[in-house]
Amino acid sequence: MIGQIDVRPEKFKLMAEFQMKKKIIPSRRTAKITYAVRDVILLAEAAARQGKEMTYLNIGDPNIFDFKTSPEIIAAVHQAMLANRNGYAPSSGIEAAREAIRENSRRKGIGPIRDVFVTTGASEAIDICLTALLNPGDNVLIPAPGYPLYSAIIHKLEAEPRFYYLDEDNGWQPDLEDIASRIDDRTRGVVVINPNNPTGAVYREEVLRGIIKLARENDLLIFSDEIYDSLILDDGVKHIATASLDPEAAVITLNGLSKNYLAPGFRIGWGIASGAEELMGDYLEAVNKLLRARLSASHPVQWAIRPALEGVQDHLVEAREKLSRRRDITVEMLNAIDGISCVSPEGAFYAFPRLEIPGSDAEFVGELIKSTGVVVVPGSGFGQRPGTSHFRVVFLAPEEVLERAYRAIGRFMESYLAK
Ligand code: PLP
Repeated sequence: MIGQIDVRPEKFKLMAEFQMKKKIIPSRRTAKITYAVRDVILLAEAAARQGKEMTYLNIGDPNIFDFKTSPEIIAAVHQAMLANRNGYAPSSGIEAAREAIRENSRRKGIGPIRDVFVTTGASEAIDICLTALLNPGDNVLIPAPGYPLYSAIIHKLEAEPRFYYLDEDNGWQPDLEDIASRIDDRTRGVVVINPNNPTGAVYREEVLRGIIKLARENDLLIFSDEIYDSLILDDGVKHIATASLDPEAAVITLNGLSKNYLAPGFRIGWGIASGAEELMGDYLEAVNKLLRARLSASHPVQWAIRPALEGVQDHLVEAREKLSRRRDITVEMLNAIDGISCVSPEGAFYAFPRLEIPGSDAEFVGELIKSTGVVVVPGSGFGQRPGTSHFRVVFLAPEEVLERAYRAIGRFMESYLAK
C-alpha cells in the first residue's frame, strides 16, 4: 500500500477483469423505444420451436403474400444498375424522381410545393423531419392508436409523444376536441396517418380541415402520413391529401413505394413540404442539412420512382380487389366471435378489433400465439384509450389462410372466456 492507493498486483488484475466485464451502457434515449410489430416475433419463435404451425398476420408486408412488385419498376432498377448509376445520388434525390413526385403531388392538389426529398423509406423522412423540428421537452401530438415509429423517434429526441385518441364509435376518426385539449406552449407538431395504421380509417374532409385550423392557430407543423393513400377499399370513399386543403398550412406529406407500389424492400420513400414560404424556409434548411449529412438514399432504386408514379396502375386494381374481399372476411368473421367487435377499415390492410376480455391484450395475444400459432399484435403496441383492449390484424394473407386463422381465434376465444 502506498498512502491510500492499493498497488498489489492481484488488485490490479481484479480491477482489469472488472473493467473488462463492465457493460457498454445504452443511451437513456433508447429506454422507451418499443416496436410491437416485431416484438411479438420472440413469442412466435418460441411457439414455432414447440412445433406449432405459424400464421403470421403481424407485419404489413404485402410481398410475403400473393402481392408482387411490378416487373416494370424492377426492370428500371436493373437498368439503372447496369448503366452504372451506382454512385451516390444527390442528397434530396435524383431530379427525375423529384419531378415525378412533384407532378404526382400536384395531381392530388398538394401545393405550393416548397421541397421534395427522397429518403430510405418514409421512415427516414419521418426521422429527419422530426429531428429538424424538436428540442428535448417539446411535444408532438400523435394518434392513438397509431404507427409506433413516431413515438419511437420522438422518444429518441427526448421529446414527448402526446397521444390524442381516435374515436372508435365514430369509425376511428380523430376527435378534434381531444386534439385541441392537448396543445400547450411546447407543442410543435401534429401527426395525421390517413389511411390510418392500425385502424384502416380514412379521414373525412371536415376532420382534416379541423386539424389544419388547430395547426394554424398554434403554429404546428402537420406530418401527414399518406403512405396508403392509393389503397382505398370502398368505392364511395375518397382519400383527401391534407396539404390539398390549405396552401398556407405547413405540411410534410409522407409517401413512398412500400405500400402503394408493393415494394417495401426497395426502402424508398419521400417527403413533400408545402405551405407558406415564410413559415417553412428555416425549417427546410435544417431538413436539408440532415439530408446532406447522410449523403443519399439508394441511387439505383430511385430510378423506380418515375415509372412507378407515371406507369399504368393495374397492380392497384388487383390489390384493391383482393384487399376488399379479405377485409370483408375479416370484419364478418371477427364480428361473429363473442368478445370481439371490429370497425370496418376503409383503407390500407389492417383492422383493429376490440376485445372484451379479462386481463390485458398483451396477455391475450401471448396465449393466442402459444395456443394457435396465429400471430397478431397487441393493441397496447399502438396506443389505445385506457381501459380498452384491441389487437391489430394484417389482412394481406389469402382468403383461406385468413378464414383458418379467424376460426382458430374463435375457438381460442371460447376457451379464453370460459377460463
Ligand atoms: N408510415 C406508416 C403509417 C406505416 O404503416 C409504415 C410501415 O408500415 C411506414 C410509415 C414506413 O414506411 P417505409 O417502408 O416507407 O419506411
